Amino acid sequence: VIDLVVQDGRALGAVALHLETGQAVTIAAGATVIATGGLTGLYHRNSASANMGGDGFAMALRAGAELIDMEFVQFFPIGHLAPRLIGMDPIMWDPFRYKLGGRLLNGEMQEFTQNYGAAEDGKYLVTRDTATYAIFKEVEAGRGSPHGGAWLSFEHIPETDLRAAFGPVIDRLTNNGIDLTRMPIEVSPIAHYHMGGLRVNDALETSIKNLFAAGEAVGGANGANRLSGNAITEAFVFGELAGRLAAATSEEVKDVSDAATPFLAVLEETACRPEGGANPAEAIAELQAIMQRDVGPFRTNEGLRRALAAIDQMAADLPSMATGGS
Ligand SMILES: Cc1cc2nc3c(=O)[nH]c(=O)nc-3n(C[C@H](O)[C@H](O)[C@H](O)COP(=O)(O)OP(=O)(O)OC[C@H]3O[C@@H](n4cnc5c(N)ncnc54)[C@H](O)[C@@H]3O)c2cc1C
Repeated sequence: VIDLVVQDGRALGAVALHLETGQAVTIAAGATVIATGGLTGLYHRNSASANMGGDGFAMALRAGAELIDMEFVQFFPIGHLAPRLIGMDPIMWDPFRYKLGGRLLNGEMQEFTQNYGAAEDGKYLVTRDTATYAIFKEVEAGRGSPHGGAWLSFEHIPETDLRAAFGPVIDRLTNNGIDLTRMPIEVSPIAHYHMGGLRVNDALETSIKNLFAAGEAVGGANGANRLSGNAITEAFVFGELAGRLAAATSEEVKDVSDAATPFLAVLEETACRPEGGANPAEAIAELQAIMQRDVGPFRTNEGLRRALAAIDQMAADLPSMATGGS
């Protein structure tokens, strides 16, 4: 889905690109629920799966809806960093820490969270934000692990305990060349969840009539941070409610072709742009690098201004971007 079709303050559906044929299509909808998740894919280091690039926020904003708390991104402190790990979740070390503790070490192989108000002594006690803060500060002080994070070690835990807790997962780690009894792994804070998003009322409706939102796309349910485990519950509870309320207020829309004409024209033009100009994959990587450097957990006025200027420049370059069409 590329854009929402809104006319006279009312959502009428969406414009989308049919991925198999590359054709632009319109979707007429009596009510629309934005459930496109968060935006953590905008960061170089992230736990995002495909499509977590904030599309829903962008299309809602273009349509005139309001966003709130967009500055609140939760960073998961011990995302996998190195060595290379294929086919496994980058936040997989969380259950390891819940069950087995593990030692979080700086580049000098010293435990350090006690210097930031959270002594652990081999247990998992430190909160996500404190751990993120502590790891960033250690890296900043030149005490990071080789790839710019921290070490996480389970070497002191007997192999039988590791196997009892994680059986087949240990084999998958072995296939990745990781033997936890003999080596620490490197971890680093990664963008994980977005607390901000669309502003909705009690009926989960945005400021645009018949445009609803649910799940991580909604802003404000968690405040500036989120308790681990709340997000799926939130998505289920508010998702069900948004669906019901949207269905109840749905108004018949037979055809959005006319209302969608301006959106379709942009889409057709973009999809047909020949090779040459900026490369989309490189542009995404550049955006992720900007976000990682200047819009991470530590932000300064100077860094945010630098990021804004760089993103403005990228936006100005967009019209020359190749989309591979013919
Ligand atoms: C690795 C990981 C582990 C997590 N573990 C937990 C946990 O243990 N407990 C917990 O409570 N929370 C957890 N979370 C958070 C939780 O999973 C998410 O907040 C929740 O799944 C959000 O649900 P959602 O339906 O709002 O969005 P999503 O599940 O992100 O779904 C959004 C959907 O929209 C689609 N989409 C996006 N843009 C477009 C577009 N332009 N056109 C068409 N489709 C689009 C996406 O493809 C996706 O299918 C975890 C998150 C991650 C990344």
